[in-house]
Formats: sequence, C-alpha cells, structure tokens
Amino acid sequence: MTEPAPHSSELLDRYEHALLGVFGRPQLVLEHGEGAWVWDVDGRRYLDLVGGIAVNALGHNHPALVSAISKQAGQLIHVSNFYTSVPQVELAERILRYADAPAGSRVFFTNSGAESVEAAVKLARRTSRPGIVAAEGAFHGRTTGALALTHKPAYREPFEPLMPGVTHVPWGDVDALRAAVTAKTGAVVLEPLQGEAGVVPPTPGYLRAAREVTAEAGALLVLDEVQTGIGRTGAWFAFQDAGVVPDAMTLAKGLGGGVPIGGLVTFGPEVSGLLTPGMHGSTFGGNPLACAAGIAVLETIESEGLLQHARAAGEHLARRVEAVGDPRVTGVRGAGLLRAVTLAGQWAPAVATAARDAGFIVNPVAPDAIRLAPPLVVTEQQLDLFVDALPSLLDAAPEETR
Ligand code: PLP
Repeated sequence: MTEPAPHSSELLDRYEHALLGVFGRPQLVLEHGEGAWVWDVDGRRYLDLVGGIAVNALGHNHPALVSAISKQAGQLIHVSNFYTSVPQVELAERILRYADAPAGSRVFFTNSGAESVEAAVKLARRTSRPGIVAAEGAFHGRTTGALALTHKPAYREPFEPLMPGVTHVPWGDVDALRAAVTAKTGAVVLEPLQGEAGVVPPTPGYLRAAREVTAEAGALLVLDEVQTGIGRTGAWFAFQDAGVVPDAMTLAKGLGGGVPIGGLVTFGPEVSGLLTPGMHGSTFGGNPLACAAGIAVLETIESEGLLQHARAAGEHLARRVEAVGDPRVTGVRGAGLLRAVTLAGQWAPAVATAARDAGFIVNPVAPDAIRLAPPLVVTEQQLDLFVDALPSLLDAAPEETR
C-alpha cells in the first residue's frame, strides 16, 4: 500500500484533530471531479465507482446540476416551510409523476435518508398500531428512531434501549414475515434490495408477498428507496420492477445528486391523511436550493436516458465480471448500477485498498463483497477498466487476508 503523499497526510492529521472520530481516518482528501473521475489534493486521479455511496447520480460537476444550483443560489436559497417555492412544488409533482403515484399521494421533504425513515416511523405510529416489522440485515439510518429499524448489532448496541416495538425477521422469508405481522403491526419497512447488508436482493416474489401480507393485516408497506431510488436500479424506483405499489416510500441519496435532500412519499389519500398540519416538520426540508438540485437530477436522468443506461451498463458489468474466469471472483449480484462483486474469500477490504492504490474507488460492503454504486453516467468502458484490473487487484491483496 502506498502512503498518501505529504499534502494528503498533513490534511488527514489535521482532520483527526478537528473532526469527531466516528468515521475513522478517511482514505483520501478529494478536491474536484468530472463525471465519474475524482482527483485528490495531490493530483491523483481515481475512477469513482462508489459515487458518494449511490448519491452522485449525475457524477461530479455535471453542467445541468451546477447551473441549476448556481442559478437558484442567486435567486433564493432558503425560505422556511412557512412558505413554499416554485422548485419545491415542481419537484414534488415530478416525484409523484415518476412514481406513478395515485391521486391523493403526497411528498414530505427531508434532508437525509434517516430523516425520511423517521417521517415513515411517525406515519406508522399514526395507524395507532405500535409495531413495526423490519428485516434482518436492514439498514435504515442512524438517528435513534431509524436505528431501531436498522438491524446491525454494532450500530444498535451502544445506544440501547432504542425505540420499542420493532421486530426483525429473516430477509426474504415470507413465512417469517407472515408470522410477525399481526393486528398490532403499523408498518412493515423493507429495502427493495438491501444495500448496506451487501447489495442483497430479496428472494423472488418476496416484495409481492410483503404487499399481500400487509394488505391483509391492514398494516402499511413502507419501502425504503433511499439507496435504490432515483434510477439506481434501472427504474425510477425499485418497487416499479418488483410489481408492487407501497403505501409509502422513503428517498434521499441520489435525489439531490449530492445536495442534501430526501423525502417521504405517501401513496393515496388515506395514507397521506395520516400526517396532518403540525404533526411533522423540518426547518431545511425542501428548501428551494435543494429542490432545484432535485429537479435538475430528475430532468437529466430523463433527458440523458440514464434509466436505460443504468440497466444496460449494470448488465454489461455483470457479464464482464462473470467472464473474468478467475476462481477468486464468484459473481455479481444486485440490479442496475447497484452491484456487489462477490469474492471466494474475505478479501474485500484488502481488494478495496489495492483498488484505491490503483486508482479505483470501490466499497468493501461485506468481507466478501465489493459494492459498486457508480454515477449513473459512468460508461461501460470505465466499468471495464475496473473489471480488467480485478485479477491484479486480487493479486495485490495482502496474503494474510486470503
Ligand atoms: N435507508 C437506506 C436504505 C440507506 O441505504 C441509508 C444510507 O445508507 C439510509 C436509510 C440512511 O440515509 P442517511 O445516511 O442519508 O441518513
């Protein structure tokens, strides 16, 4: 592993004296970007195959996003939710249209994924049923309400006791879900494809079964599309490929292309009516600057055909990885441009380090899985650069981790 050059290492030292240590020592000090490329402060270039963890949908420095933000910044940045603005109304309308949401559906804007999940928790509480069912392996955020839905013990345990009433069931097991959902269940909250757990798709038919189970029990089905939404899986929203319509979905990440914005979308008048004036709020949520960014992202995904591209490029990636013919690479899972390359051993962290040294930013999402969530504008040729390098990255992974 090459040590960061002096400029980076000096900044990283200063980081450690100024920033709370929750993220550990960052890997790079990044300075600017263009499309799927980013450069660090020492002038080294990297192919960004993480995209800010499925956030930079349009890549870095996309002219449509830069110009929309610049224009809006010169006009109106923030007004509070005592007032609204043209971008706020237009973005909400656009989201509802792309979601094929029925009449009476509504949007509540937030600033992050966890806040969107918090809003969904409040929605569930309004059913007057105290229970929430979530899945083992689920990640729904780190605020204390969302954390109660997140499954990973290492994230939860330091903060227990968490919000009561949450039951976790094995991911993809319909019978377990059916058994857990009762007349006391307000909502079932699921990721359409588990991102942080290692890009793990549901078992076939699982989401449809979840829809049936919740409908029968009178519970809400909330799909957490924070990571999967906004074209990431090749559809506007992953639920559209699964053939289900949720009662609510949460959004964030890709929506602002890097500008913080999220949302809760409630489907139909009955669910939308659960949160009435005064029941929820946010100072920043849905401000004109963030909404202008959201509009630019959605418009550009549409005008550049990025849904189709995400689907085709993801399939290209999967085919290319499968053709590598190296027994250390066992496959690819996921959808669109949310993928994990799976390995025959626990090499992912070492491979990610070797990848960084070779100029690729990837994420070791699990010990044996490397997540790729590149900008939706990444080209197939750029993806090939990584696939072609994979065997040498595995060779470079330190021996003791094999
Ligand atoms: N929900 C899902 C499915 C996520 O993947 C994440 C973040 O990775 C969150 C919620 C939390 O989002 P944020 O980090 O913006 O709070």
